[in-house]
Amino acid sequence: MFISEKIRQIKPSVTLAAATKARALKKSGKDVVSLTVGEPDFRTPQHISDAAIASITSGAASYYTPTAGIPELIQAIIQRTETDYGLTYQENNIVVTDGAKFALYALFQAILEKEDEVIIPVPYWVSYSDQVRLADGKPVFVAGLQENGFKVTVSQLEAAYTPKTKAIIINSPSNPTGMIYTKDELEAIGNWAVANNVLIIADDIYGKLVYDGNVFTPIATISDAIRRQTIIINGVSKSYAMTGWRIGYAIGDPEIISSMIKIISQSTSNCAAVSQYAAVEALSGKQDTVEEMRQAFEERLHEAYEKVKSIPGFKLQKPQGAFYLFPDVSEAMALCGYDNVTQWVEDLLAESYVAVVTGEGFGSPNHIRLSYATDMATFDKAVERIKAFISKKQ
Ligand code: PLP
Repeated sequence: MFISEKIRQIKPSVTLAAATKARALKKSGKDVVSLTVGEPDFRTPQHISDAAIASITSGAASYYTPTAGIPELIQAIIQRTETDYGLTYQENNIVVTDGAKFALYALFQAILEKEDEVIIPVPYWVSYSDQVRLADGKPVFVAGLQENGFKVTVSQLEAAYTPKTKAIIINSPSNPTGMIYTKDELEAIGNWAVANNVLIIADDIYGKLVYDGNVFTPIATISDAIRRQTIIINGVSKSYAMTGWRIGYAIGDPEIISSMIKIISQSTSNCAAVSQYAAVEALSGKQDTVEEMRQAFEERLHEAYEKVKSIPGFKLQKPQGAFYLFPDVSEAMALCGYDNVTQWVEDLLAESYVAVVTGEGFGSPNHIRLSYATDMATFDKAVERIKAFISKKQ
């Protein structure tokens, strides 16, 4: 009874909710196979953990840090972005946050007035819409067409534009589809955003996880005008197997960055010092584990894609990056006599002990999301059970 109306309107993250439900069922003794998680199954590389341990032993990790992040980490982010993007940023362009997720949260809080609109291409990462709502903004959904790799076009953005449009989110490679925008597509979108004074929020978190020779172009690298209008969101979770450490960052306009720092100074104060020292080593130490993990995901993608494509009633485009498959399961649902994907997913868990994420949380009621950031034996078991579930229901 004490809960605000705003919070009543917000749903918990469907991916975290699905993972929690699967864990609870497993704890009760059921043989649950979960493809819900959005995190690498690899351990954090040892040299990164060693740097964290050294910061504890030396006492460096004992204290509050500057709100924006320790200077060593800010420098490491500047260097990494210079190496990977060829762009030179200054200290006042950077803020370190509790995961990329909190970078997005602080950003929306910093830029949105009541009812300001943020264009979110569909399917979208589950947290964008509710984070916009938490900042009193309005998510405006623009559906990427399946035949265009779920990517949105400038004519669609033009149709969605209103004088209240404040920002657009570009997440390439995408969670959940794994699709990547080409340089030309990004150039068109970037120029449109600049012409209409719309802030570009570039969620580049999967930028290092691209496969089969596909290329990730950071939108900020396309032109100086686009770079000035872009806030880059990135972090160490996905590329360095560091989801538990909670380190992300935002890069961009100093006025926006300093507003985000103000929010952090009044909310979390700073990210855990030990995690910041680990992230310095991740970003500036040897990078070979990044490529090793990328290769492992690429191999799994090949296998996982073929297997999922063979499930009756599943339609799937081959993803180009990230570590998810996002099949259209509308035919499979029809075969089983369902018209609601969330119900189908719930019954799959209750009856066959396979946990996947409903597409509804991503704005796509005909899809489910499967993560292949897991060992292939687990993945195979899940696929076999899904096939058995479908044939049992027919
Ligand atoms: N952005 C996207 C598209 C994601 O998939 C995730 C995590 O799942 C995040 C941001 C947040 O990552 P983190 O907060 O772990 O840095």
